[in-house]
Amino acid sequence: MVHNGILTLFDIDGTLVRGARCHYMAFVHAVSKFYGMEEDISGVNYAGKTDPQILREVLEIGGIPDKVIEDNFQDCLNYMIQDYLANVHRENVMALGGVHDLLNELKNENVLLGLTTGNLEPIAYAKLGRAGIDNYFSFGGFGSDSAKRPCLVEKALERARKIHGFKGDEIFIIGDTPRDVDAAKPFHLHTIAVATGRYSTTELEKTGADFVLESLEDVKRVRGILGI
Ligand SMILES: [Mg+2]
Repeated sequence: MVHNGILTLFDIDGTLVRGARCHYMAFVHAVSKFYGMEEDISGVNYAGKTDPQILREVLEIGGIPDKVIEDNFQDCLNYMIQDYLANVHRENVMALGGVHDLLNELKNENVLLGLTTGNLEPIAYAKLGRAGIDNYFSFGGFGSDSAKRPCLVEKALERARKIHGFKGDEIFIIGDTPRDVDAAKPFHLHTIAVATGRYSTTELEKTGADFVLESLEDVKRVRGILGI
């Protein structure tokens, strides 16, 4: 694909879509199966964290010894994927307002579209598929690449260059949490924070994001920011 020198890297939860009960339940099932933990983990703030990062935190809070965590960690993540794929047909996920139109317009303008998400890769694509927007994306950085968000941003950039021959420096990270903005900082990327997750515009303004939006609904405004 010929692209126009602009790369946008989208977070998924709270940015492109909302509601992902089956993802949460896959997590609960996996933690129960591999670690025997039945605690309610809904109180943990996992916004902007990667799946492996959340898993480790939950297990540590639950007092699971490090050795036991390590021994079962990858199997637990794999089980989470299987459980999610088996149940995704009943996932309640929906594309957020403006997202369909925005992605369509960016695609038509030959903007290169990628993902930076803490979701494990198969979960990310299945979730986007359920929301009807998976066909816009073919690469990214995922929770399966690293537990650390900046490292998955690095992976996404590497893949943009290697797979798509991207050479431009107009790169935008679009996400709904302070963690999305922080992960972009080491790479000096442009940041757009959207208040469609659990953080308000006021909270997101404190992150130093270049742009803070209520949502992605004002497609014209986003186009203006991207300069297209
Ligand atoms: Mg998010």
